[in-house]
Amino acid sequence: LELNLVPIHPEGSEFAGVLLVLQDVSAIRRLERMRSEFVANVSHELKTPITAVKGFAETLLGGAVNDPETAKSFLQIIYDESDRLNRLIGDILELSKIESRRVPLVFSPVEVDSFIEKSVKLVESEAARKHIALAVDMEPGLYVEADEDRLRQIVMNLLSNGINYTPEGGRVSLRVEGIGDDHIRISISDTGIGIPKKDLPRIFERFYRVDKARSRSSGGTGLGLSIVKHLVELHKGTISVTSEVGVGSTFVIELPVLQ
Ligand code: ADP
Repeated sequence: LELNLVPIHPEGSEFAGVLLVLQDVSAIRRLERMRSEFVANVSHELKTPITAVKGFAETLLGGAVNDPETAKSFLQIIYDESDRLNRLIGDILELSKIESRRVPLVFSPVEVDSFIEKSVKLVESEAARKHIALAVDMEPGLYVEADEDRLRQIVMNLLSNGINYTPEGGRVSLRVEGIGDDHIRISISDTGIGIPKKDLPRIFERFYRVDKARSRSSGGTGLGLSIVKHLVELHKGTISVTSEVGVGSTFVIELPVLQ
């Protein structure tokens, strides 16, 4: 609680007094803290690839450039880290735009059947590279009111995560069903590494990763699920997750159907 004293002098009156204003500022303080934590996180996340780029460039300039083999591997690192930086900045901008509602969603009726088929096609090669089987089980004839590009972003993100966090030879399945007559449920399950119980409540937070090194090596930015959650909410939907370490994870999205 914050206490403020506001002097009052009513015009033409001898009487003067003070107004006591008690204000609950915990929500404001929490927002301020979150904002400054976010800035600290962003700076830290940007620093890591920049330090690598700078370090390897320096070593090259210091003479390593004369050994073609070393030069090539260092340049590859510089390229990869720049690429990562690019993705990170892209995701940060995307998240900030979504959070401040600067992305107007364009809603139109989406036929779930063909939409899912197209989305799954886009991750087929990613899955094939890891010999991961993709299974789709769909109830036909469902429609939702959605921004198709954003809905694709949601589904692709969850499918990519499923593939990323599942070892070779595993399986990623997508299931679509109607629940009641006003919602659809899209479940994306994998037979991957799973998420420990203690981390589950936090994985939708920005930059939260169960295993930083693993996320990094698979090209993750730690922002995917925060973006997904925001986008699901902008569709008036919900997202939840269940998982068991060493067995797999299931992400469930529920969206209102087209009335
Ligand atoms: P990242 O870019 O690190 O993948 P996300 O925001 O997409 O970031 O996910 C946050 C974290 O949640 C990941 O780093 C990972 O630890 C965990 N995670 C997300 N999806 C899965 C999954 N399907 N299986 C296991 N862990 C997952």
